[in-house]
Amino acid sequence: MANKSIYRRRTKIVATVGPACSDKAVLSRLIKAGVNVFRLNFSYAVYDNLERVIRDVRDLNRQLGAHTALLGDLQGPKIRVGEIQNNGITLRKGDKILFTTVPCMGDAQHIYLNYKEFPLDVEEGDLVLLDDGKIKLEVLRSNRLDEVELVTVYGGLLTSKKGVNLPNTKVSLPSLTEKDQRDLNFILDHDLDWVALSFVRSPNDVKELRKRIQDRGKDTHIISKIEKPAAVAEIDAIIAESDGIMVARGDLGVEYPIEKLPLIQKSIVKKCLNQCKPVIIATQMMESMITQFMPTRAEANDVANAVLDGADALMLSGETSVGQHPVQVIEYMSRIIETVEQEVEGIYYREHAESADSEQSLSDSLCYLAGRAAKYVRAHGIVGLTRSGYTAYQVASYRPLCSVFIFTPNPRLLTRISLIWGVRAFFYDKQSGTNQTIDEVLSFLKNHKYIRKGDVVVNTGAMPVGSDGRANFLKISRIG
Ligand code: PEP
Repeated sequence: MANKSIYRRRTKIVATVGPACSDKAVLSRLIKAGVNVFRLNFSYAVYDNLERVIRDVRDLNRQLGAHTALLGDLQGPKIRVGEIQNNGITLRKGDKILFTTVPCMGDAQHIYLNYKEFPLDVEEGDLVLLDDGKIKLEVLRSNRLDEVELVTVYGGLLTSKKGVNLPNTKVSLPSLTEKDQRDLNFILDHDLDWVALSFVRSPNDVKELRKRIQDRGKDTHIISKIEKPAAVAEIDAIIAESDGIMVARGDLGVEYPIEKLPLIQKSIVKKCLNQCKPVIIATQMMESMITQFMPTRAEANDVANAVLDGADALMLSGETSVGQHPVQVIEYMSRIIETVEQEVEGIYYREHAESADSEQSLSDSLCYLAGRAAKYVRAHGIVGLTRSGYTAYQVASYRPLCSVFIFTPNPRLLTRISLIWGVRAFFYDKQSGTNQTIDEVLSFLKNHKYIRKGDVVVNTGAMPVGSDGRANFLKISRIG
């Protein structure tokens, strides 16, 4: 059985799979320690390895009675320099260098860039950041065909295949590269719960991905990674178009002024809560634990602050994929999250703006009122019935203090909503009437000791439970 702390903790944990944890035994320890979602990073995809991990996680879910979700993270139009000779070159302030789109071995004069339209897209004065912003260049001139001359603003050692960020340039690359399209097919073939889209620039990027998913007859839910200033500029429309958001602080911290990052994080989380969309905070949360046995004070603060902001989930990258202490990272992160959740009342009961008068706003209001009613009657739990998951997203966004139990006839939802704050999911597919269904799910919760005689619960959701409808009932009952 998975660690009970998973059930007490509301803020979920996403762990990236890599060589440090892809063994079935380590995956099992990670689930028991509290991982809710495994992220498969397609930047490093070897399909045979990923297939084994997917099989193992699903096996472990069955063995442990867990609902660990799988998230496939597409690389997106990541720009990189090519191979560079002699273990790299050192660029010094004032050094000039040519970037070419013609494949070549890089040296002190010229370096290959995997972005054919670069000479057409850049303008004089645009900034080019290399290796996570450690090196900064400025565009001097472009021949508008295959070469761009740059000058070094601040330098360093540049080695092969390092990432390139272009904070000012309107990058014309498609949002889904050929590699992404192959990886997307893999993700859809294997029915992963979530797909993350990197370097989203506009809501149209999300629409295009959605169309591809629908054309394959699938309903995989989309996380948009916010890592470009263009995405921050269109954040409301991107949240509306997406099923979830990731604040991808790695690239965002390079492309955006770093001093603005904390407030951008808070603002995006708030907007996601208002639109009832789950939000993940990613990158460098426990970075020092890649090698060290405990986090730094700053990292403990970062994790706690993300919980206080109201994030649904916190993500680990190198800490679990290549780190030396993957299980301990999860244990530390869980303890920090639980402590904040137990001691700070301000996390709970996030008020929502009044809904406009529409068919959908009636069901949204019902979910919101379920949360308010739970507060008013000091309920032990909110019990939601849903096929699409919509009720779960809505109820969770109010951040109720009591437990949220979601019953669904949709097996895909059991794992997918593991990402969502505070939610626990159970399978239920009987076609009974409303009162009988409520009796049955409450009996289940009582028999499994999630609730006890005398507890008050608030029931809401869509009836009949197999329908795709929105929440249409609200009932308060005391467990007999
Ligand atoms: C990030 O940039 O923070 C991020 C999560 O993206 P990736 O690790 O895929 O570069």
